[in-house]
Amino acid sequence: MKAVMLGTGTSFPDPLRVQSGILIEDGNHRILLDIGSGVLHRLTQLAFDIKTIDAVFISHFHVDHCADFLPLCQSLWLTGFDETLKLYAPPTVTEWSRGLSDISFTYLRDKIRIATTSLQENQVVSLGNLRIVATPTLHSNYDTRAFRVEGNGKSLTFSSDTAPCRNIIDLAKDTDVLVHECNWLDGVHREGIHTSPSELARIAEEINPSKIVLTHVSPEVAVEREKVIEIVSRRTTAEVVMGEDLMAVGI
Ligand SMILES: [Zn+2]
Ligand SMILES: [Zn+2]
Repeated sequence: MKAVMLGTGTSFPDPLRVQSGILIEDGNHRILLDIGSGVLHRLTQLAFDIKTIDAVFISHFHVDHCADFLPLCQSLWLTGFDETLKLYAPPTVTEWSRGLSDISFTYLRDKIRIATTSLQENQVVSLGNLRIVATPTLHSNYDTRAFRVEGNGKSLTFSSDTAPCRNIIDLAKDTDVLVHECNWLDGVHREGIHTSPSELARIAEEINPSKIVLTHVSPEVAVEREKVIEIVSRRTTAEVVMGEDLMAVGI
């Protein structure tokens, strides 16, 4: 299994980081975890054939996690995609998808078929050799899912947007690669929304991953790279790296 970090940024504009997105490839299967603004462009930089995407998983409907879904649909139509695109997301997904095609962009309605699946708590999805577990995170009052992707005895867990919470620790326990958000620096922040480096260090000790890839990195975090990595590394033996757009991660 291989992952490519397509977008490691946030909603804050950053010339080096587009919004949230990860490509997972395993043999004949390819899935996307999130598809924020800029992710489609990153796929084209990989010379990736978008018609080979098996499914798109959207963690939640904040714009920085789903904005490129519509451009993906339009591009698929223009490239002759003639299958049904699978979309997995939290429970408002059917209304969200219908809103796009029935209200906002009606010209796309008959151009592409989308099969939506509403992700219930701890739902498991199987696609070929891949097994994806979707668990609720703590992200204000916004219905959000973290994903654990397993294949051939290995796993990657993606936190999406979350404050530290028991669900993330349990979902990610002993995972090989933990892709975790690090939205802001240590300091005073509203509780229950995002994770700081010190908070991530605390839960990393319990999760016990082999590698940690920081993502959802805001510009203020990116400029403090060495300090942030040092803080996150304090209570874990895991290799800690700051994610970069187009970084490939072997699993
Ligand atoms: Zn969010
Ligand atoms: Zn976000």
